[in-house]
Parts: sequence; C-alpha cells; structure tokens
Amino acid sequence: MNGRTGNTERTRVAVQAGCIGILCNLLLFGGKLALGLWGNSISIMADAFNNLSDAGSSVIALLGSRMAGREADAEHPFGHGRIEYIAAFLVAFLLTEVGLKTLESSVRKLMHREALHFSGITLLLLFMSIAVKLGLALYYRTVARRIDSSVFRASASDSFQDMAITAATVLSLGVFRLTGWNIDAAVGLLLSLFVIWNGISILRETVAPLIGESNDPKLSCEIREIVEKHRGVYGSHDLVLHQYGPERYMGSIHVELDGAQSLRRAHALADHIERQIREETGVMLVIHTDPVQTDAEARDCRKRTERLLRAIRGDASLHDFRLRHTEDGREFEFDILLPWGLEKEEEQRITRELEKGLAESLQEKLRLRLHIDHPYTSARSDAESVEAERASAGIENRRE
Ligand SMILES: [Zn+2]
Ligand SMILES: [Zn+2]
Repeated sequence: MNGRTGNTERTRVAVQAGCIGILCNLLLFGGKLALGLWGNSISIMADAFNNLSDAGSSVIALLGSRMAGREADAEHPFGHGRIEYIAAFLVAFLLTEVGLKTLESSVRKLMHREALHFSGITLLLLFMSIAVKLGLALYYRTVARRIDSSVFRASASDSFQDMAITAATVLSLGVFRLTGWNIDAAVGLLLSLFVIWNGISILRETVAPLIGESNDPKLSCEIREIVEKHRGVYGSHDLVLHQYGPERYMGSIHVELDGAQSLRRAHALADHIERQIREETGVMLVIHTDPVQTDAEARDCRKRTERLLRAIRGDASLHDFRLRHTEDGREFEFDILLPWGLEKEEEQRITRELEKGLAESLQEKLRLRLHIDHPYTSARSDAESVEAERASAGIENRRE
C-alpha cells in the first residue's frame, strides 16, 4: 500500500531531519548553558533549558516519523502511517504551549516594569539563536514539502516562532537602547497572541486527517481520469478515499458499466481497472459496478432529466439512473449529487421543480424515486467538470 515516494526513502529523510533538529537544539542548549555558567546568569541558563525542550519536539518528530514508516503487520494491516498525525499533534501542542508561556510572562512584565539588562554576550546569544532557528525552520519546511509531512510542517512553524520571539527580544533591546522605551512586554504580548492563534490552526490541521477529511481533489481527479479512460466505462461517481497516513490510501468508487453484459465480463474490467489504479497511484481501490441501460429509450430519459436538473441548478449532477416499466407507467430512479450545506427547502425545491419539468416535457404520469447525495471531494474537481461536459454532450459517445 506504499505510495510513490517510497516508504523507506521517506523515513530516511525524516529521521535525518529529526537528528539535525536535535543536534542544533542541543548545540544551542550547550552553548547557552556554558555561557550562562561562565557569566553566572540565571536568565541565560533558563533560556538554555528552553532549547532542551525544543530538542524534545525534534525527538517526537523523529520517533513519530520512524514509527509511522514501519511496515504493515498482523495487528495493523494498513500500516502505521497515522502515527505521524499523532506526532504532529504533539508538536503542535508543545508549540501552542510556548505561546501561552510567552503570554503569561508578557503580562507579568506589563504589570511589573523592569529596566532591560543586557550585555554583549546576551546579544551574541540572541543572534546565534536567531540564525540557528531560522536555518532550522527553512530546512524543516523544505523537508515537509519534499515528503509531505505534517510533523515537519508543525516543526517548521515551531522553529520559526522561536526565531520570531528571539527577534522580538532583540528589537525591544534595540528600541530601549535608542529611545529608552521599554516595549518588551507589549511586543511579547502581541507575538504570543499570534503564536497561540497559529498553534491552534496547526492543531486543527493535524487533527483533521484523524477525523476524516474530504478527498484530495488532485488524487481524485487522477483516479477518475484513469477509470473513465477505459472503453466500456460510462461514468464514475461516489469515490471514497480513506487515508492511513501520507500516501497510503484505500477506497472505493462506483463505475457505470453496460448492464447487459455478463457479470464475468464486468468483473474482468473492474479487476483490470483496480490493478491499474494500484500501479499508477498506489491506491487500493474497490470498484462497485453500476449497470447502465444503454437502449435508446433509457438514454433519452436520462438525458432529459440531466438537462432539466442542470437548468434548475448548474452545480447539480445525477448518477445511477434506472428506467423501469411498471403497471402504473414508467418509473425513474436516480441519485442527485448536491453540494453540502443546502437548506432542506432548497433540496425540496429542486426535486419539486424536477418532477414538474419532467411531467411537462414527457406529458405522462411518471413515478420518480430520487435520492440526494453529497460529494466526498471538497472542491469541484476537474474530473467532475469533465463529467459535466460529457453529461451535457450525452453519454452515447462512450458506447463500446
Ligand atoms: Zn452508484
Ligand atoms: Zn474480484
């Protein structure tokens, strides 16, 4: 079930990045501790221990990525990829905590204003911190992009905000030296609010894949293009993707095939498409086959219904269309795909207008059985536009 980057390569990059992070933070810790002891400064020593806890974040990132990269086993046949999301959550949590601590100390400084003391050594240390943290933030960001890792995205934010907090201290010292104004507490307060806000948004981002998200539009588009380019496929819908860590997906899709063919033939095509999807995208897909009626009458009914629906709402589409002949006349059954978040009244209006429109255009008493569906892919993906175009052009151009 491994994706395209290759799991071992991904883990190797992550472990290397984690080690570099630990090393940088330990160096800062050691340097500050030595200077603090030498200069007998408690505040520098306290700052040194901040870097020790930053090294802790790097350890979480390293261990999380390593564990996430472990192969699937009997207890976890889908692999361990989701461990990475938990690690990212922990890093994001620690980063938010830094914001809360900064907020607390800024409020205290606001209430008890003190003169700012600083020496050449302090300044040297501050610039050293800024350089190391900035370098680390940029490095983590590159790693996060390269292997699409939420842990390293969170770690990059963490390093970047450490850098910003230190830079704010330097700024306050500079302003104090030039003008005598002590803006340390005010700057710290503003910055801490930003850090907390940023931390909460990263927390939300890291939790989202654990709750279950809508499909990645790019991957959905890719899968549906592969499915729909096969001869004998009339359309596809209801693509569901479950993520078991970065680049590990399994899911299902409905594929419309000629309902008159044998089960054996339909199954052979479905199997073939499943294999191709797996080879080209790494996704383990199960195909549910929907029989399409390919006779002229059913095609005409579907086309009329589609045209009417699109006139009522441009962003609606339909699938699984069935035409039945009963004793009381004809019956249409189909699913309507509508965007999320519509009012009940709007959904009722759409079905009412569709019923009215069909009755007028067909001049007969018609039974409609329709079901309302919502998309699993958030934004209207390109594949859906392709489908929309094809639907309006009529489906017969896909006949085998
Ligand atoms: Zn279906
Ligand atoms: Zn099978």
